[in-house]
Amino acid sequence: MHVSVDPEKCCSSGLCALSVPEVFGQDERECVVLVLTFEPPAALHDRVRAAARRCPTGTIEVRD
Ligand code: SF4
Repeated sequence: MHVSVDPEKCCSSGLCALSVPEVFGQDERECVVLVLTFEPPAALHDRVRAAARRCPTGTIEVRD
């Protein structure tokens, strides 16, 4: 799995960082999403996919 984001789309909701803090964080100033782990381990894949589905702006892209 490879995780990428388009920060221009992010509305800084923080949902992804709350649900998978191992993979997503937020910029301290603007709260825009940061990817902390671009290739997360298999144990996190379901949660990462769920976070991508729930992102209100479609910012998160997941490739296998
Ligand atoms: S859930 Fe989407 S919009 Fe919200 S912080 Fe994460 S990437 Fe940004």
